[in-house]
Amino acid sequence: MSEQNRSGSDRVVLNVDNLRIHYATPQGDVIAVSDISFKLYEGETLGLVGESGCGKSTTAYGILQLVQPPGYIVHGSIEVEGAEVLDLTEEELRKFRWTGLSLIPQGAMNSLNPTMRVKDQIIDVIESHEGKQSDKEALRERIYNLFAQVGLPNRIYNMYPHELSGGMKQRVCIAMGVALHPTVVIADEATSALDVVVQRIVAQTLVEVKDEIGVSLIVIGHDMGLLAQIVDRIAVMYAGKMVEIAPVENIYAKPLHPYTQLLIDSIPSIKERKPLKITEGITHDPRNPPSGCIFRLRCPFAWEHCAVEEPSQIIVDEKHEVACHLFDEQFEERRSNAFATIANS
Ligand code: SF4
Repeated sequence: MSEQNRSGSDRVVLNVDNLRIHYATPQGDVIAVSDISFKLYEGETLGLVGESGCGKSTTAYGILQLVQPPGYIVHGSIEVEGAEVLDLTEEELRKFRWTGLSLIPQGAMNSLNPTMRVKDQIIDVIESHEGKQSDKEALRERIYNLFAQVGLPNRIYNMYPHELSGGMKQRVCIAMGVALHPTVVIADEATSALDVVVQRIVAQTLVEVKDEIGVSLIVIGHDMGLLAQIVDRIAVMYAGKMVEIAPVENIYAKPLHPYTQLLIDSIPSIKERKPLKITEGITHDPRNPPSGCIFRLRCPFAWEHCAVEEPSQIIVDEKHEVACHLFDEQFEERRSNAFATIANS
């Protein structure tokens, strides 16, 4: 995908190309991620959205080389600042995690070790990459600085995770994720276990820390409303495919892919009461995807051609790409009719 950046820098820090990940089952391989490509630019925050099971988290774990059997990477390339992650040895990968790529995992609050004090968990991350730190006072100051960056008080230094609130535990995970100033941080549904107010505050903290230390960030989530407030661009996934990618304001003002339109329509509004949009059609068997367009069994605008050919990524304008035949020039009339239907619905 040749999508354009809007974060200010043209320097690509992460380039995912044609990545495909399967899960082997006795009944055949489940296709979790299907040949996706995207770039992440220096200083950018990219949101990765889609419904549960669409491959967002598997993409993140693939990038970090953390896909566990029966999952496996079929093919693809993952370059961080020009270095191919798939070529790294186990030892190189161990060093690369936390410094090149770091993960704030789903349910991060439960990823903290309940038997270790907060300080020891952060010291573990630092010393596993930088060796034993002899200057304990400097180490403590460094951790206090990290606490300040993520809005934590110094008094939690000696505490255990069970003594902290959910929001505080999440902030500890963010502190660990950025402790070694990685090039790319991936936050996988990092706030979804928090209540809505804390969710927004923690998400904002994440972006502020990102700006302060200058990392690039991928935020994986399904809350389009929350993502709208914190990301620069959004990539929409459906059934392992990337179907649309654009700056956040484009996606919300003018979603192009029929699936993105349904996602945007499903965001609740406090200004107007609207009926819940139901997506007609059936989801396919992930071991046996339909021919042509992956969304055609649920798409209100599907026609015969959608079953024949898989849509490629179409550049609608320099910042906006979509994988849908409606945006192929030869089907312009069909697109006008489809958009008229949307306007009247
Ligand atoms: Fe719908 Fe066809 Fe576009 Fe797929 S290619 S989203 S089936 S109109």
